[in-house]
Amino acid sequence: MDRSPADHPEDPAMPDPLGPTPTDPGPTPAEIAALRDAIAQARALADAGGPGIVAAVLAGDRVLAMRPNEVKDRTDPSRHAEIAAMAAAAEVLAQVDLTGATLVSTLQPCEMCLGAMRWAGISRVVFAARQEAVHPKYFQFGGLTIADFHAAADKGFAHLGGVLEDEVIDLYADGRV
Ligand SMILES: [Zn+2]
Repeated sequence: MDRSPADHPEDPAMPDPLGPTPTDPGPTPAEIAALRDAIAQARALADAGGPGIVAAVLAGDRVLAMRPNEVKDRTDPSRHAEIAAMAAAAEVLAQVDLTGATLVSTLQPCEMCLGAMRWAGISRVVFAARQEAVHPKYFQFGGLTIADFHAAADKGFAHLGGVLEDEVIDLYADGRV
């Protein structure tokens, strides 16, 4: 994205060329805090031999739900962390519409989870490890990037990847979890 100050000549309050832009705001403190919690959980699970991928759903600054990958625990190939977190958040709200919520994940959501995110109405995803930085095993349509999904969805969602990536990349770089 272009964060050139020239994009905001009318707004002297935004002189920082690395600062968030109004159309693509960077991760909020609450999103970063949730991601940091998710990373800590993922690392603890991975160290215990479990599924080291954790996702959360936030409504504003409130964490509605945070769940790990439950594929093996639930014997369900679709029970990725993002799916589990969205299901739990929907249960908390007693509704399937999660419009306005944010999905946070330690790893870039796969194609299935991006689809589920859209079905839930979520239009913002913040994640740590990016597809290009991790083992290919985490994606079934490796030829498609999140930018491709973004374009295919008519840019209907915002994606912020690489947030705190350095703190978790060791789990996914060689596909060990
Ligand atoms: Zn997934």
